[in-house]
Amino acid sequence: MKINKVCVYCASSDYSDSVYLNAAYKLGEILAEESITVVYGGGSAGLMGKLADGALSKKGKVMGIIPQFMVDLEWGHNGLTDLQIVEGMNERKELMRNDTDAAIALPGGSGTFEELFETITQKRLGVYLSPIILVNINGFFNPCIELLKKAIEEKFMDERNRLMWTVVNESSEVISAINNSPQWSSEARNFATLRKTGN
Ligand code: AMP
Repeated sequence: MKINKVCVYCASSDYSDSVYLNAAYKLGEILAEESITVVYGGGSAGLMGKLADGALSKKGKVMGIIPQFMVDLEWGHNGLTDLQIVEGMNERKELMRNDTDAAIALPGGSGTFEELFETITQKRLGVYLSPIILVNINGFFNPCIELLKKAIEEKFMDERNRLMWTVVNESSEVISAINNSPQWSSEARNFATLRKTGN
C-alpha cells in the first residue's frame, strides 16, 4: 500500500544531543524522498525544526498544525508548504492524526509522550488503525517500552495490544516498519478493556 501521509511527534528542544537532531533531519529527508507528506506540530525548534528542514531540503510536503498561541509566540516554522492554525491543543492532536497512514514518534519530552500515548490509546480503542512507529534513537524509548510491557504483564492491557506499536533503532528503518506492521481493525475495541464476564 502506498504511504501518502504520516504524522510525526518529536521534541521542541534545541539542546538535545546531535544524534537526536540528526535522526529527525534524516527522517524528514527519507519521507520526502518517498513523496510522503509529513504532518507535525509546526514548530521551528528542536527535532521538529530539523524534521521539517530535512523534508523541505528534498522538496517534500510538510504540513504544520499549530495552535494560535504558539504562532503568537513565534514558535511556528515559516518555510512550510502548509500551515494550519487551530484554537487549541486537543483539536491539534486530532487533526495531526487525521487520515494518516502512520504515526511516528522520535525522542522528545512530555508533549511527545502525550501525543504518542493518545494515539496508542486511540488505536487500542479501535479508532486509529494505522501503524505506530517508535524511533528508538540511543535506546531513548526503552523505559517507555518497558512500562507498556509492564502494563500488559500486570493485566492492565491485553496481550494483543503488544502488536500496536513497532520499535526501530534508526530513521532509515521507518518505511519498512510501516510496511510490515501488523494489520489492526476496529474489532480491537472488543479487547480494549479486560473485564470479568457477567459483571
Ligand atoms: P516536547 O516533546 O515536550 O518538546 O513536545 C513536542 C511536541 O509537542 C511536538 O510534537 C508538538 O506537537 C508539541 N509542541 C510542544 N512545544 C512546541 C513548540 N514550541 N512548537 C510547536 N509544537 C510544540
